[in-house]
Amino acid sequence: MQNRSAEKTEREAEEKRKGNLFRLLQKTAALLADAVFPPDIYCIACGRPIPAGEVYSLCSECLQVILWANGKLCRICGKPLEDWYPRDICGECANRERSFDRGITCVQYGTAERQILRDFKYRGKSWLARELAEIIYDKISAVGLEFDIIIPVPMYAAKEKERGYNQAALLGMFLGRLSERECRRDCLLRIRDTVPMNKLGARERRKNLDGAFRVTAEGRRIFPGKRILLIDDIYTTGTTAEHCSALMKACGALDVTVATVASGRNQRKLPQVQIGEADQQEREI
Ligand SMILES: [Zn+2]
Ligand SMILES: [Zn+2]
Repeated sequence: MQNRSAEKTEREAEEKRKGNLFRLLQKTAALLADAVFPPDIYCIACGRPIPAGEVYSLCSECLQVILWANGKLCRICGKPLEDWYPRDICGECANRERSFDRGITCVQYGTAERQILRDFKYRGKSWLARELAEIIYDKISAVGLEFDIIIPVPMYAAKEKERGYNQAALLGMFLGRLSERECRRDCLLRIRDTVPMNKLGARERRKNLDGAFRVTAEGRRIFPGKRILLIDDIYTTGTTAEHCSALMKACGALDVTVATVASGRNQRKLPQVQIGEADQQEREI
């Protein structure tokens, strides 16, 4: 009897120690992230100093300028559509089957948005990840999205080494903190280098990514039955999302939502008549 209660006390003490250690690790990770990504004192769009606590670290003027994706959207990929556009589905989604279930995007890719995302992606401003993840988090919360796990679109290892970070993985990491969901980088890999998608037309994009991604053994274990949030910075034709999503679905993923900070514009005419022009416009983005 005594032995059993001693065992129980010992087990409880062990669990408490583990719980404390876990909380300490979480706290340390948060403190480290705060040191690397300091709380913002400048507007993320124009760079002017801002008072502490501004929404998304945007000054009041830039907050007005940002093209929030709040109007008419493609019912599949979430891409903003012009008010005059006669359909509720964008040209790309109308022309092909989608392996992902829905797309959610926060802003349209205009001048200010391009500036922020280029700073984030190419100019070393990795600290923007925190603000951008918050923008995505608010958007997915507003639509009541439920998901089990976060998977960032992977980058080719050598390219990530050169850049110093994968912007999608940083977004995923902060989203993980906000949503209290795991962000896993060990489930889906990019196994070969690819030409940057913005240099290619729609048809070349699809070919460019054939065989570029691979699900790992861990991914095959994790994906079945899961509702996945696939994260990237920009959505254009959806080709990257399509490839990643198809692989995860083939491994048994239940549902895939593609969430991005920004989305390129919709092609400006009806989908059936102008594949060539769409290619041309995507090259401009
Ligand atoms: Zn500003
Ligand atoms: Zn669409």
